[in-house]
Amino acid sequence: MKGDGKKMAGARKAPTRAATGGSAATPKPRCGLCGKTAKLVRTDCCAQWICDDEDKYVLFSYARNSCHRNHRRFTLCGYHSAESHSGHWKECPACREAFETEIYVYYGTNEYNFGKLEDPPAYEPTRCSKCATVIVLSEGGYSMQGKEYWCERCSGAEMGRLLGGGGRRGGREGSRS
Ligand SMILES: [Zn+2]
Ligand SMILES: [Zn+2]
Ligand SMILES: [Zn+2]
Ligand SMILES: [Zn+2]
Repeated sequence: MKGDGKKMAGARKAPTRAATGGSAATPKPRCGLCGKTAKLVRTDCCAQWICDDEDKYVLFSYARNSCHRNHRRFTLCGYHSAESHSGHWKECPACREAFETEIYVYYGTNEYNFGKLEDPPAYEPTRCSKCATVIVLSEGGYSMQGKEYWCERCSGAEMGRLLGGGGRRGGREGSRS
């Protein structure tokens, strides 16, 4: 039996239409992030067309459904501009200093960018100080205890312990063997 295992993970998603499509008679501006053409505004930071959609964001919802907000909040470009740094964010030492490398790379390469950091620095994955699970900082769900990162589970466990006060110990329902 010879199965030349042809398993190509089809993980690769076609990028939403080639960006450099030439032709197109209509120079209609479209959001550089999601491609929509309605209700656009230029970003303050980099003057790119983007959805004027911050009103869609519900306060404290942490939703990431607003192109404008995502670019403003979760990119170095937005941060760099908000902090009035000089020069280009890609070469900005202040931006580099401002974040953990992992976050720096995320902010510089995530899908909320129009142009990504070309040469992102390498970094060690962040691990939970208690159980060593890898924590993806950009996904949240962790907590920081001083300089330590705790994963969601360990944070939750600790939180439970603190809230549980004296800690109920030992169920009386004895375990019979
Ligand atoms: Zn958009
Ligand atoms: Zn920008
Ligand atoms: Zn900067
Ligand atoms: Zn943990």
